[in-house]
Amino acid sequence: MKVHEVKNSIIESFHENNNPHAFLIYTNNLDQCYRDILDIVRIVNCNEDGREECECSACKLFKSNNSPDFIDIKPDGKDIKVNQVEKITSQFITKPLINKYQIYLINEADKLNIVAANKLLKFLEEPSEGIVGILITDNIRGILPTIKSRCTVFNFNYEFTNLLSLLNITEEVFEKYYLDAVQIVYNLENLEKYQLLKYLKDISKKERNDILEIFKLVLKIYTIKFENRLHSCYNELEFTEQIINLIQDDDEYNLVKKINNINMIINLISNNTNRDLTLTRLAVIWE
Ligand SMILES: [Zn+2]
Repeated sequence: MKVHEVKNSIIESFHENNNPHAFLIYTNNLDQCYRDILDIVRIVNCNEDGREECECSACKLFKSNNSPDFIDIKPDGKDIKVNQVEKITSQFITKPLINKYQIYLINEADKLNIVAANKLLKFLEEPSEGIVGILITDNIRGILPTIKSRCTVFNFNYEFTNLLSLLNITEEVFEKYYLDAVQIVYNLENLEKYQLLKYLKDISKKERNDILEIFKLVLKIYTIKFENRLHSCYNELEFTEQIINLIQDDDEYNLVKKINNINMIINLISNNTNRDLTLTRLAVIWE
């Protein structure tokens, strides 16, 4: 489903009074997702029809960050701490003050530290009417299973408008390393072992930093392929097809194995190991 369709179905569930009390939103674009969720929060509490320029009292308060019925938290430093969660549990004990719903939003919910996560879990276990939690993450494996099981999970997968945004790199990195990375992926997928050995030996003569940058891109390409296998989450634009089709292997287990191997090579190279030996090792373990 496209993001705007998921978004509309969520808004609809509020209007029909059968919305979940806790949402876990899994996304590939945290910033865009955050903006879309803010929009949903405003619309479901709007006194009128929810249009963007609405100036009803609820929308006015919300747009000026003064809504007493909305709490928005994100990591404080590297994690989300228990006192941040306590802000929710202590403030949301009465009925909503002026809105229909009291809504708390936890951005990057995978960064809840363990104490904070457990505090939140207790709160989720005893849902009260009118209180809605929305957790956003781009790393669903970082969410405690006990929290996840109490949430309704939605996927906000955004389409990328160009290759640079899909790979999340600058034009400079693209110019310098993309072709090499594509060549490596192609050769990993297509060459016989002895040819691959020979080819990677040549690559190992490059500067250490260049090898690192190239392999980071190789890793991204494999990750895109893997995520596509898992969620079919990328659009069918030509540039995504190109990347996905570089890798014919569709087996998820194999793809994880390949991703782990590339990760290991990146770690070894960045730890100053012998480049020739490290890339030889890649050719040997690669299947
Ligand atoms: Zn309004």
